[in-house]
Amino acid sequence: MKLFDLTGKVAIVTGGNGGIGLGMAKGLARAGAAIAVAGRQKGKNADAVKALATEGVKALPFEFDVADEASCHAMVEAAAKALGRVDILINNAGVAVRKQPEAYTMEDWRKVIDVNLTGAFVCAQAVYPHMVKVGGGKIINIGSMLSIFGMPYGVAYGASKGGIVQMARSLATAWAKDNIQVNAVLPGWIDTDLTKSARVQIEGLNERVLARTPMKRWGEPDDFAGTAVFLASAASDFLTGVALPVDGGYSIQV
Ligand code: NDP
Repeated sequence: MKLFDLTGKVAIVTGGNGGIGLGMAKGLARAGAAIAVAGRQKGKNADAVKALATEGVKALPFEFDVADEASCHAMVEAAAKALGRVDILINNAGVAVRKQPEAYTMEDWRKVIDVNLTGAFVCAQAVYPHMVKVGGGKIINIGSMLSIFGMPYGVAYGASKGGIVQMARSLATAWAKDNIQVNAVLPGWIDTDLTKSARVQIEGLNERVLARTPMKRWGEPDDFAGTAVFLASAASDFLTGVALPVDGGYSIQV
């Protein structure tokens, strides 16, 4: 068995059309997996599929809204039909609403929880029968430093990202019997569309990130390619329910 080979496997990457999701999708494609790029924006999906096709694998776009249960199920069924099977799910789609808790509306709260946490659970439920059918699978959930730390303007985001780690642990215990490994990845500060706005909104953020990160840089989406391959391949077959920081050391420095 080749430990890191994903030839013949099919991966669904939610939010796979940019940022960390696309970085992970590129890693999986380089290891031989076919990719379903699932995101809201048609144009971004199409561009990501074009980029992935240069890796020599089949990649298809699927427009969906992770906050809509029916849309998640329809996306998974369409991807399974078009690509023949589902072996890997990356629950990566995510949003942030940065406000002090007292300024939060219920609409803000529900948006963040629905996209980041409930949507990930619905997608996991939707892929489950497909993974059972092929004898196992890998589910990779994207958490955050806010899975373990707090921030004044991250009340719903932190709740969703703490929740996703506990969800991963529960799914890992439930579905071990089906040979499905479920893990979480906790990115540090990564240079993407999501954090470009944070750098503008939060004064001094760039300097604080650089000061606290032992590796003295922001992460790049490409930093997640190898992590994705490891957690999606036979190399991690006895690893389940972990929350793995990929953060340049941010979480081990006081
Ligand atoms: P991006 O904004 O680049 O990516 C977010 C992705 O989520 C996009 O592909 C977007 O697709 C998709 N998405 C958002 N809402 C929906 C929706 N309702 N339905 C379907 N897709 C949706 O940011 P990142 O790459 O940084 O974020 C990816 C993940 O990493 C998120 O879960 C984020 O919380 C997490 N993360 C990021 C960190 C960072 O420093 N960047 C740190 C820790 C965690 P579309 O544009 O088509 O809507």
